[in-house]
Amino acid sequence: MNGSEPATIELHCVCGERRVVPAGLRIVSCVKCGRALGPPLPAPGPRPAIFLLAAATNMTQLVSAIALGLAIASAARHFDASAALGAWLIVPLLGIFAGGKAYRGGPGALVVAAVIDAVIVAMCLAGRDHVIEMLHASGALRYVTVDTALLTYGIAALAGVAGLACLAALPQARRYAAWQHTRIELAFRTRGM
Ligand SMILES: [Zn+2]
Repeated sequence: MNGSEPATIELHCVCGERRVVPAGLRIVSCVKCGRALGPPLPAPGPRPAIFLLAAATNMTQLVSAIALGLAIASAARHFDASAALGAWLIVPLLGIFAGGKAYRGGPGALVVAAVIDAVIVAMCLAGRDHVIEMLHASGALRYVTVDTALLTYGIAALAGVAGLACLAALPQARRYAAWQHTRIELAFRTRGM
């Protein structure tokens, strides 16, 4: 045992009662209500700001929905069991799930969302001809008059911005997750009150 450690600790009860007890003592009941005392109750405070997290995850889901819609529309007209089409169906689906999970406060899911955005950028740039083919096959071009290459770069740019926003939103996601954790702990400690 090192000397800087206090010999006593303060334990708190959910009823508000506090007791200072020897540090070795772990199971102590409250003199007022008989419940078990524990470490100080966490104070969750107000919900941290999540505007960047919301924007980043919404953009990831939007660009994923555009990519998925394009793949589904082109597959419906002309299905080829290619790896490229498979990727265009699966990657955006993962993006929609990761975006939703990250929005609920998952820093890990936010990193996955950023990676998926980057993969969509890569698929747009490396598979530009395939995207243009899908744009033609989907029938979407009847409603869009712009140049197909420009449209492909537009999707890539949106995915790129979404990916950067996900990385920028990481601190917000961490604070939000920590805040949720504190609330869950508080709810667990004060259950039945
Ligand atoms: Zn008590």
